[in-house]
Parts: sequence; C-alpha cells; structure tokens
Amino acid sequence: MTKVASYTEFEPLEIGPGQRLFVLTGAGISAESGIQTFRDSNGLWEQFRVEDVASPEGWRRDAATVWRFYSDRRAQAKTCAPNPAHQALATLERALGERLFLCTQNVDPLHERAGSKRAVHMHGELFKSRCEDDACETTPFVDAGEYRGEGAIPRCRCGARIRPHIVWFGEVPFDLATIG
Ligand SMILES: [Zn+2]
Repeated sequence: MTKVASYTEFEPLEIGPGQRLFVLTGAGISAESGIQTFRDSNGLWEQFRVEDVASPEGWRRDAATVWRFYSDRRAQAKTCAPNPAHQALATLERALGERLFLCTQNVDPLHERAGSKRAVHMHGELFKSRCEDDACETTPFVDAGEYRGEGAIPRCRCGARIRPHIVWFGEVPFDLATIG
C-alpha cells in the first residue's frame, strides 16, 4: 500500500468564497488514533469473522455475538482520542461552515469529538442504536451501552431487538441522496 505523502509535498489548497469542499475520510484517519479496523486482517478481527458480525445474516443467526463485537468496539473507541487530522477538519468546518461537506466511512465519533458538527456517517455510527424492525417508528438514538450475553440484548418498546446503527454488508449506506 502506498504511504500517504507528507503535507509538504502538497501545495496549499486555496478555496475561493464561492467554492465548496468535499472531504471523504476512511479507516486511515481513525487508525492513526488507534481505532482497530478490518483492514489488513484477512476478514478476521480478533476471534470474529466479518460475515458473522457485519451482515444481516450474522445478526439473524447470532445477535448476541454481534452485540459482543460492537460492545468491544465501543469499549475500545472510548479509549481513543481525535488526532491532528480530525482537529484540522474541525478547524476547516469552523472556517467554511456548510461549504465543507465532510463525509466519513468511519463509524467512530472522533470527528465529533474533535469538534466537527456536520460529519455525515455513510456507514453508520458506533454510538447509536436503532430498532431492528425498519417499519418501527423508533428512530436511531445515541447509545454508549455495552451488551454482552444472550439476555443482555436490549429490546425496543415494540418488542423487537435493538441493533447497532451500523451499515452492514448488503445494506444501503446512509445519506446517499445528500452525498450524491
Ligand atoms: Zn421497534
């Protein structure tokens, strides 16, 4: 994999008064903060297989394992802090306002912790949960809870199970209309 060039190799980016900027961030920016990713892991993450913890089929088969995995991810993300790249994008947002469109593939909250207010999380958010029933009127909500074990899976008031607000393989990314 090609190493990212140091900043000195780029000319400063000039943004005119009428111009807008689109920034897409991915696993690399979070890896710098110590967030673990599936990248370079051959589809295995600790003892978990991607298809078991990041697909609707995996959820249907074994929801407790899925929640154990995301509970571990929440626990880990709680120990990570934003790095200078997150800070720089937050500074850029303060300067450009809505002329900056920050789109991230990451589910961690490091852009928000750095001060970004309008990052679009196309693959969902680790610290949100929602009802597994798409027809339910309960909307996604902030949730830092960790649920380990069969009996620990939270229930929606409709009776269905609460699932992580994460876009799994085979699901449609969020906000595609806005991003497009
Ligand atoms: Zn529900």
